[in-house]
Amino acid sequence: MVHQGVNPRASGWSVTAPPRLWADLQQHLFQDDRDEHGAVILAGQADGPRGHRLLARELLIAEDNVDYVAGTIGYRALRPEFVRDAALRARAEQLAYLAVHSHFGTTSVSFSPIDLASHERGYPALRKITKQIVGGLVFTPRAGAGDLWLPDGTRDTLAEVVIPGGNLLRLAPSPVPVEASDARHDRQARLFGDRGQQAFTRMRVAVVGLGGVGSIVTELLARLGVGHLVLIDADTIDETNLPRLIAADLDDVDARKTELAVRNARRANPGTKLTVINEEAQHPDARQAIATCDWIFLAADTNAARHWVDRTVHQYLIPATQAGVKIPVDEAGVIGRIHVAIRQLIPGSGCMWCNGLINPTELALDMLPSHVRQQARYVDDIPAPSVIALNSLAASEAVNHFMLAVTNLHTDSGEHSLLRFPRSGRQICQQSRRDPTCGTCSDHGVLARGTAA
Ligand SMILES: [Zn+2]
Ligand SMILES: [Zn+2]
Repeated sequence: MVHQGVNPRASGWSVTAPPRLWADLQQHLFQDDRDEHGAVILAGQADGPRGHRLLARELLIAEDNVDYVAGTIGYRALRPEFVRDAALRARAEQLAYLAVHSHFGTTSVSFSPIDLASHERGYPALRKITKQIVGGLVFTPRAGAGDLWLPDGTRDTLAEVVIPGGNLLRLAPSPVPVEASDARHDRQARLFGDRGQQAFTRMRVAVVGLGGVGSIVTELLARLGVGHLVLIDADTIDETNLPRLIAADLDDVDARKTELAVRNARRANPGTKLTVINEEAQHPDARQAIATCDWIFLAADTNAARHWVDRTVHQYLIPATQAGVKIPVDEAGVIGRIHVAIRQLIPGSGCMWCNGLINPTELALDMLPSHVRQQARYVDDIPAPSVIALNSLAASEAVNHFMLAVTNLHTDSGEHSLLRFPRSGRQICQQSRRDPTCGTCSDHGVLARGTAA
């Protein structure tokens, strides 16, 4: 019985692979010899906006001529020792076991009858050994399919494979039909295509921090047509915020920042679904909400917000964009190098800890209850300067990156992090550093552990 009549479109399963792991896998699968190649992926698990997600954590490459049974033709069987070692590791680490191989082809791929027969021979026993999900994945460079054997004895197919790099790639077993965009978004669809426009509609996107930058990010995302926004901020509006918050007026003083963001998002796009969290980023409700999104905008400048968003990026393989403005003023009142910073947080690439962007002392203070926090800081926080035109540079740059990534319109799959200096007109592209033994962004730590971390 092939796939037990399950419609692959209806499946709630996906695999997400960090771009670095995907690059290694592609290099191995699609070699110039035009032969089939294989590997095993061990994956964590989490629930996402469209169902269950498998999160690729470790790639075990099957060496050609070493890890295969000699003399097999057409279908190349992995050596029992290789399978056993990988299965025992999956069991010990409580990770899904996914055998991967390549097929020839372009935008469609499916298992051969020989593949499926081997799954039926091997996977029931492997599932017994690992007590985890076991399955097979098959790829062409532009398509991916999967056959999953679940611990409860059922079997399901894979709807898509997601690679959250500079361009957010989604591979399906075959081209997914797309509906024409609505009249409202006609001019956008002329740039993004109907498929690109629809990609926004199906996304759930979090905005952490709804101040000067987050307020504009929310407006832009709603107008682009993002289907679901998760709006997170614990603050209320004071008079000094009014010049920088979209559509704020005097009556909004003392209202919650989330209330204004909701009003703006509804006005910008009545079809957008909204989830509101009136808490700081470190609150469990906020952490849980951002862990089930497709993308996170980090527009809050506390160390706790940085830490928890950064951790979510790597633990759950969810891409994020940090957007901020720095206006340094020294004690004599001299204004320093004003800059707008846009940082892409790419799952499995260098995290904020690796790049010295989280201060452990400040993080410890941020994690105290707010009334204790005030007393614990030595000096009163002097409010930093803040101006809407600078904030809008940061918000636009961040949302532009998101927009081009989601619609695959970036000309390269690089990191696209940058610093811009409006006073001099200069701009610097940045590349994140990565410690290969990091507890956040490497497989020595929480990378792709999902809910089991
Ligand atoms: Zn095959
Ligand atoms: Zn790191």
